[in-house]
Amino acid sequence: MNPFLYTQPADLDGVLAEIALQDARPVAGGTNLLDLMKAGVPPADLAAPQRLVDITRIAGLDGIEEDGGGLRLGALARNADTAYHPLVRERYPLLSSAILAGASAQLRNMATNGGNLMQRTRCIYFYDTGTPCNKREPGSGCPAREGLNRQLAILGASEHCIATHPSDMCVALRALDATVHVRARDGQRSIPFADFHRLPGEHPERDNTLEPGELITHLSLPDADRFAAHSAYLKVRERLSYAFALVSVAAALDIQGGSIRAARIALGGVAHKPWRVEAAEALLAGRAPDAGAFAEAAELLLQGARGYGENDFKLPLARNAIVQALGMAARGTAYAKGERA
Ligand SMILES: Cc1cc2nc3c(=O)[nH]c(=O)nc-3n(C[C@H](O)[C@H](O)[C@H](O)COP(=O)(O)OP(=O)(O)OC[C@H]3O[C@@H](n4cnc5c(N)ncnc54)[C@H](O)[C@@H]3O)c2cc1C
Ligand code: SF4
Repeated sequence: MNPFLYTQPADLDGVLAEIALQDARPVAGGTNLLDLMKAGVPPADLAAPQRLVDITRIAGLDGIEEDGGGLRLGALARNADTAYHPLVRERYPLLSSAILAGASAQLRNMATNGGNLMQRTRCIYFYDTGTPCNKREPGSGCPAREGLNRQLAILGASEHCIATHPSDMCVALRALDATVHVRARDGQRSIPFADFHRLPGEHPERDNTLEPGELITHLSLPDADRFAAHSAYLKVRERLSYAFALVSVAAALDIQGGSIRAARIALGGVAHKPWRVEAAEALLAGRAPDAGAFAEAAELLLQGARGYGENDFKLPLARNAIVQALGMAARGTAYAKGERA
């Protein structure tokens, strides 16, 4: 492990000044960044961070509160506190389920919402510094295309990288149309969730559109009450806990009088970012919530999908998981049945 400087600024201005330094990186729960540092995996534009800026002392960034009919989630709120918050459980059960499908109870107690968005791929070549990897070392190659790719992408990949984004929480945030709010020393901006994570293209070293020196301060979610009664997060993985998604589906339906008024569907474990195809959602509008309609939506969501050998099984798996998750959503959540814990 390389030596590094550790600082703990007391407020937001102090953090923003320090993370503007070229060799600095923010650290929150540390559950991904410290693993990467121990494995010797550097951030895209740094040989190794020389300065870790602990952001957990900033006041006011760990709240979860109502916000004009929607919800505001602080970047420093822990994943567990977010999943179990009464507002999240009642009004955004899809988000609660997705977070609770991830990692383990111990990790969720440490992991923060901002850190969850920024976590890096779990492609094994990315962590193995003895192998080439375009994401770790641009231009060195992508052994995963011909190699061990069981976990990797079937959609939106490029010749340079077929990695997936490993988050569960982000799949629900994509379905729920979240917005990411960021601050830097010279200003602030808001990024629609669809534009936050990137496809790999020619620059797989860049996971997202956050610029150096920017800090995620909070996320906002629009009102999603109409979806609360009919939503489901289905995660298919190698074992029941402590495993990343092979395929996951966040599904939410607004059902009135026996027909679908609106649908939201996002996929995890299949691409470099949570995958959503709005045409598949439009196709469901006005239809009865049945397996035939769900299968048609699955075809649209998976248009252009391809496997790379080991991960070919993900094509039928994803198709079946989409139909299954939409069926679970249609049958209703605990919220719909008045079974609130
Ligand atoms: C064994 C294991 C199993 C796991 N399983 C799952 C799983 O099944 N599903 C799942 O979704 N996740 C899983 N995770 C990942 C876990 O959810 C992430 O490690 C965690 O969410 C990261 O949050 P953190 O606060 O610890 O981030 P850190 O490790 O502190 O930081 C991660 C990155 O985010 C940056 N960062 C942190 N906060 C901010 C901010 N506010 N603004 C800008 N940048 C920031 C850091 O600089 C760093 O680059 C697993 C992790 C482990 C170790
Ligand atoms: S898929 Fe991406 S992360 Fe994995 S080896 Fe290829 S370039 Fe690296």
